[in-house]
Amino acid sequence: MTFSEKEPLILISNDDGIDSDGIRVLEEAAEGFGQIVVVAPDQERSAASHALTLHQPLRYTMRRANHYAVNGTPTDCINLARFVILPRKPDLVLSGINHGSNLADDVTYSGTVSAAFEGSLLGSLSMAFSLESPEAEGMAFQLDTAYHVARHLIGKMLERPSDPQVLYSVNIPNRSRENLSGIRVTHLGKRILNENNIIRKEDPRGRPYFWIGLNSRDYEPDPHSDLHAIDHGYVSVTPLHLDLTHFPSMETIAAWEQDGSMKDAANPASPDNGSAPGRGAL
Ligand code: MN
Repeated sequence: MTFSEKEPLILISNDDGIDSDGIRVLEEAAEGFGQIVVVAPDQERSAASHALTLHQPLRYTMRRANHYAVNGTPTDCINLARFVILPRKPDLVLSGINHGSNLADDVTYSGTVSAAFEGSLLGSLSMAFSLESPEAEGMAFQLDTAYHVARHLIGKMLERPSDPQVLYSVNIPNRSRENLSGIRVTHLGKRILNENNIIRKEDPRGRPYFWIGLNSRDYEPDPHSDLHAIDHGYVSVTPLHLDLTHFPSMETIAAWEQDGSMKDAANPASPDNGSAPGRGAL
């Protein structure tokens, strides 16, 4: 395969697997913007989060020109693409289009968003796309809407390239293109947790088993959140970065640096004013 030096190099991955409809649509949406290479898991790896495979060998197979399937996670795919398959760093990493939205705390579980995180970590502009699930069983994913939104935003991204340390998580409402309300730039929202999220059943031998269910649809009201945007028919674009540091708390706990009792064997630090016997390690 020959690579152009001038054309942008676009790497596409996902977590639904290389055979999913979503990745095909994303590839169509990116057509004409540069040279496209698809490197994606050989099977569905949804909720793989940012996992790296360390305890089994990774292999890739070429399905057809510029399409590679990897027996690993989305993060494995980005690494293999970057350091084995591609001749240089991709200019753009695109992930998706996921079947199902990735909103609020979903981004920490999402393989779709993690592929973009990895792209960003490796220094490429990165964008993840997720399409809201249909409201009822049997209704279709509006992939045509997702195609148009992705194509529009890929254009925006390349028009004015931003800092690769920031990646963009895009969520698309599952409705027709005419019924989209517009685009909202959002922050991650907060769901109201569903206490009955884990379903308990019994197997034929009477032993309990558990199934992690779906998230609650309720969320804390906030007009700037991703949850609110999707709920109101807007495409949600959330800029994310991987520095998870909570800076205000660095101030709050700064005094911990000054407390010398950690090393003081005669006066071990303990929650009840040192009356408990000292423990060997923190
Ligand atoms: Mn998925």
